[in-house]
Amino acid sequence: MSERFDVVVAGAGTAGAYVSYLLAKAGFKVALLESKSGNDIGVKTCGDGLGQHHVERLSRHLTPNPKVFQNKIEGVELISPDERTRLIIKGEGYVLDRFMWGKWLVEEAVNAGATLYEGHTATAPLLENGAVVGVKAVERRSGTAKEFRAKVAIDASGSAAVLRTKLIGWPISEPLHPEDVSHAYREIVYVEEPLENPQYIRIYLDMVVAPGGYWWIFPRSSTLLNVGLGIWGVLKQNPRTNYEKYILPRLKIRSKYHIGGGFIPTRRPLKTLVGNGIVALGDAAAAVNPIHGGGIGQALLTAELSSKVIAKAFERGDFSENVLWEYNLLYMKEWGYRQAQLDVLRLMLQTLDNDDLNFGLSRKILTEDEIYHLAAKGTNISLIDKFRVMMQFIGRPALLRKLSTSIQYAKEIGDLYLAYPTDRSNLERWHAQVVAKYNEYREKIGLGPLPTA
Ligand SMILES: Cc1cc2nc3c(=O)[nH]c(=O)nc-3n(C[C@H](O)[C@H](O)[C@H](O)COP(=O)(O)OP(=O)(O)OC[C@H]3O[C@@H](n4cnc5c(N)ncnc54)[C@H](O)[C@@H]3O)c2cc1C
Repeated sequence: MSERFDVVVAGAGTAGAYVSYLLAKAGFKVALLESKSGNDIGVKTCGDGLGQHHVERLSRHLTPNPKVFQNKIEGVELISPDERTRLIIKGEGYVLDRFMWGKWLVEEAVNAGATLYEGHTATAPLLENGAVVGVKAVERRSGTAKEFRAKVAIDASGSAAVLRTKLIGWPISEPLHPEDVSHAYREIVYVEEPLENPQYIRIYLDMVVAPGGYWWIFPRSSTLLNVGLGIWGVLKQNPRTNYEKYILPRLKIRSKYHIGGGFIPTRRPLKTLVGNGIVALGDAAAAVNPIHGGGIGQALLTAELSSKVIAKAFERGDFSENVLWEYNLLYMKEWGYRQAQLDVLRLMLQTLDNDDLNFGLSRKILTEDEIYHLAAKGTNISLIDKFRVMMQFIGRPALLRKLSTSIQYAKEIGDLYLAYPTDRSNLERWHAQVVAKYNEYREKIGLGPLPTA
């Protein structure tokens, strides 16, 4: 059986639901395929934290349902491994009722005119003459194979990236190496004793509990907490084991509301987010902030940017890689270069131990403002007061070298992403420059060359 649409979207998470909403509202015929069905739609294992700036941007196109915001956040408490230093980083945001958020976005997409195919698993892109012309799927209840034909297919299937990774030999199929992911586990729990200051989310840096990552408490209220951790994928450690060993004993749990795990791409941008007839969004495009693993905002951003370019492709009647390329350009200019800068810093942070972190946080190597801008936005790194940083590092020359090398390479690599090729034909040459620069940097901080997946 084959059905025809303008656009077919694989995955009704944040990215897929929002792009379906935007495109359906613009008058396109959209099929939204989602593996989950019924009440499971909208369920997502997540820390549920979302910065205010993402909500403001979303509000330009869609008025948020106030019920999705469960707790208003005033900032982050960043805690050193020895828990002696606690920095308060101001920055507004929310802890979401993630289930309600997911459901609400899907409802908005359907109300705008998208057709939801729940219980439909996308299995592969449909290919003809070197272009994607739709999506193959299976209806899970009946096992019926289906084809959804469309001018553009959108991979919004999350970190599994079920469409783009099947386009073997296409640049968009770039796989994720274990170095490029974080393995996460979290529980949402009701606790006996109310948490103090639930208006702050807490991030604990501790390379024993969460090697190459962090553990967190994101309060949905003072007694309902989202608690979890992420571990660098290359270490191949099970985050649930560490959760049970180190975090669980600290909590007096009354009952558990939801538990789950997942993996998060935490890396530089993919070399391209488009191919002939296809674009990738959100986690499927590895668009996540590599420092803290937040990707809800980027799922929204990629949906917005790609929807503009797809609408233009319809105006031109051309859905080729060359026309969809503009999405890459918008992405790199808006977020990709900052993602790359943050990725450089992420690699450096992953080489530190608890001693380094205790030292760095207690000396306030970076001010709270600098940390906020780095983590949320990828600040203009050259604005960091290098002289102050240098003075604070007296007695730790190796650590200072590592930090200043990282700041220098973050700038250089960010600039390379800002110079992303306007023309597809220059992609490989540009990418070779990126790889060379990364390898130079990695050698300086004691990591080997970029792994090939
Ligand atoms: C433990 C954890 C904690 C996190 N904490 C935060 C946080 O606090 N803040 C933040 O901003 N981000 C956080 N993230 C990341 C964030 O959840 C993701 O970046 C974001 O949800 C990405 O949205 P998406 O729409 O791209 O993907 P998803 O939300 O994963 O949506 C993908 C959708 O595709 C569907 N799907 C998958 N395969 C198929 C298929 N073959 N066919 C059809 N449908 C399919 C899935 O069922 C799902 O509905 C966290 C992630 C994890 C795992």
